[in-house]
Amino acid sequence: MKHYNCKEELKLIIKDYPFLCKICKKEKALIEIPSQKIKVCKNCYNNFFENRIKKTIEKYKMIKPQDKVGVFLSGGKDSSTLLFVLKKLYPDINLQAIFINLGIRYYSDKLEDLVKNFCKNLEVPLFIYNLPEKEGYRIDDFIFTYFKDKVCSACGAIKRYLFSKIAKELELNVIATGHHLDDTISVMLNLFFQGDFLGIAKLQPSLPPLFPNQVKKIKPLYTTPEKEILYYAILNEIPFENFKCPHANVTPSKKIKELLTKLEDENRQIKYQLLSVFTKKLIPLIKSNYKEEVLSLCIKCGEITSSQDKICSRCKRIELLEKIDNKTLELTKEEFEDYIKNLNSNWVLIDLKNRENLLNESTKKLKRFFKSYRDKHIFLTASEPEIGYLFTLKLRKLNFKAYNIKTV
Ligand code: SF4
Ligand code: ZN
Repeated sequence: MKHYNCKEELKLIIKDYPFLCKICKKEKALIEIPSQKIKVCKNCYNNFFENRIKKTIEKYKMIKPQDKVGVFLSGGKDSSTLLFVLKKLYPDINLQAIFINLGIRYYSDKLEDLVKNFCKNLEVPLFIYNLPEKEGYRIDDFIFTYFKDKVCSACGAIKRYLFSKIAKELELNVIATGHHLDDTISVMLNLFFQGDFLGIAKLQPSLPPLFPNQVKKIKPLYTTPEKEILYYAILNEIPFENFKCPHANVTPSKKIKELLTKLEDENRQIKYQLLSVFTKKLIPLIKSNYKEEVLSLCIKCGEITSSQDKICSRCKRIELLEKIDNKTLELTKEEFEDYIKNLNSNWVLIDLKNRENLLNESTKKLKRFFKSYRDKHIFLTASEPEIGYLFTLKLRKLNFKAYNIKTV
């Protein structure tokens, strides 16, 4: 028996059950299909999973045989599973994998290696876009702006812009994303609580190009629960990240997702019921009552925006980065020795080796520990540079002037 515990709420058990698969009745049952509450063999699990995706693709006419379909890989289970299934279901389609290296230290490069291997084994061409090399900034740089506590929001705007830019560069007709049922429902509910009904209406499984020269966006996993993607990825040995982005936060959508998972124990169809209410009742109502959003092209980058000043959210975020003249977060030992020459004695070097547990403590405790260094430049060393870097990011969020020293 194998237990996988990728996330608290996503537990998976694979074992030889002492009875046959409920679908084929030939092989031994190995795994449960969570949404159906039946135990099946690997083959039947895969067939069930892939057929539902195929049906979604066909129902919404997502892909035409002549399309060039791009899949942006994040290194996570959803986008990698999507690429794997598309390749299996449509072996003759022109598939293109894309990876954006966002320059997140101790994270993006690891993901790039993982994605490279995956695409090589799957024999799908991979295009890599290195953000720091191409555009001269990293997602980490947002720690110097008021987005420090919501880096994901800045990152999302940058990624949306890049999706569109890269799609044009690679002459894609379609972008397929790994948004699944749980994503859709949690975002819908979150927008509902905020009263953003137009936002809800935009959450469609297939979004046609809004302007000429734009691509169609499709979500083939729209009706697939997250848990079943995880099961499929593990069953089929699809590699995916088991490390966390240092900027990942608990967002309202994530909290709603956890709540839905709990509600599912009472009613296993709740997510499908909500999807049906939203798509069949609420979205048509919204569409009949709201005027179409006025869209224009950003005067800086040429991408679509609904902003009245015609400057898109990506360009507004880039303007913030342009105002920062010192983006130093990390130094080698030699760079550090050079750096402190201009700081007089206004700095302190802290070895975190015996205090690394502070990383998991409350913000209050962290603040208390570093309180006396509030006005100083704080240079940190730890047993591993990655740990020092995580401390640096945490302290920067609390407005300390922290830097990581790469000692290893
Ligand atoms: Fe970007 Fe946030 Fe995802 Fe990290 S967790 S890659 S910052 S969206
Ligand atoms: Zn722009």
